[in-house]
Amino acid sequence: MAQTISPPVADATVALDVELKDVVKTFGDETAVQGLNLQIRQGEFFSILGPSGCGKTTTLRMIAGFETLTSGQLTIQGQCMNGVPAHRRSVNTVFQSYALFDHMSVWDNVAFGLKIKKVPKAELRQQVGEALTLVQMESFARRFPSQLSGGQRQRVALARALVNHPAVMLLDEPLGALDLKLRKQMQVELSNLHKRLGITFIMVTHDQEEALSLSDRIAVMKDGCIEQVGSPNEIYEHPSTAFVADFIGDTNLLSGQIQQQPLTLVTSNGLQVAISPSSTDVSKLNGIESIDISIRPEKIHISAQAGAAKPATHDNCYPGEVKHTLYTGPHIHCIIELTTGEQLRVLQPNHMAYRPGTPVHVSWASPDCQVLV
Ligand code: ATP
Repeated sequence: MAQTISPPVADATVALDVELKDVVKTFGDETAVQGLNLQIRQGEFFSILGPSGCGKTTTLRMIAGFETLTSGQLTIQGQCMNGVPAHRRSVNTVFQSYALFDHMSVWDNVAFGLKIKKVPKAELRQQVGEALTLVQMESFARRFPSQLSGGQRQRVALARALVNHPAVMLLDEPLGALDLKLRKQMQVELSNLHKRLGITFIMVTHDQEEALSLSDRIAVMKDGCIEQVGSPNEIYEHPSTAFVADFIGDTNLLSGQIQQQPLTLVTSNGLQVAISPSSTDVSKLNGIESIDISIRPEKIHISAQAGAAKPATHDNCYPGEVKHTLYTGPHIHCIIELTTGEQLRVLQPNHMAYRPGTPVHVSWASPDCQVLV
């Protein structure tokens, strides 16, 4: 197991905004969430990431108050929320579908919640104006949702949530309906908004790149359980399970028997891979015979001959052949088949083109092997 996995427990010196203790949610025979424990700090941008059906939205909906807990406890700012209705919680949700009222202007959409609460007119005008300014939509106040682009509609949905001054913003795939370019632009805006407001954002997404680029911490979920909680760097560089390594970005997984002194993985084909004891908690390997390791494609170097231009730190070096290449613009993905039979994915800059069939050597440094027990 990798050494630097952060525990799923928040720093005791930072106040908690949201805490889930042993939370279970079942729908009939279906268990959507199984014994979830999460601690989300005040002011944190926290993402819940995982494949379709893993229980992300159900978790968010329980925090919002749209679903009840089957068992366990939910606390928001130190107050137990079990049984507290959604409108009594200091949270607001932004949905992928925006959920705007089509027959109301932008202004009326944002003002809606305040009108229900019978906020005095002058105060309402000021708060709606401020919320629209925050998302740079003040000049669109008279338009209707049908007269706005997807990105503008999402900004109105954000303003409508922010106008209530929630302690916690819940974002359910907030950028899921936008095309890639607009999505990237809105990611920057969302991040700026979070920094300016300083409130807690909890976002559900299945887009790992979005989670990595926006979040302070990420919880990776699988089958209703948390697989790992950590900073984007910890999750990417030190995945604790094969599922996390594979789900977050591209990776190469190798399985085999472990040999101690020097620490080595030996695959069933006889490939011997050096593992650095410095990047692994060696005590966790006592008594363990077989392990998986993960090596990120960008950590692997290709050279035409053994040793040619190979970084000096690369203590793993093997002969192979280029099998396939895939051009993706800035990068080329190469599949290299080693002479022992294993296939590795390698990410190359797009000016380093190797033709399929070219004999090559691949190399990487032993600290780049992440051990997954
Ligand atoms: P997606 O990314 O596809 O939205 P998700 O990770 O958000 O998926 P959830 O929507 O939380 O997943 O669903 C988790 C599981 O609970 C799924 O198997 C789903 O079918 C089930 N589920 C969710 N809501 C209900 C419901 N109201 N009734 C019955 N089953 C439900």
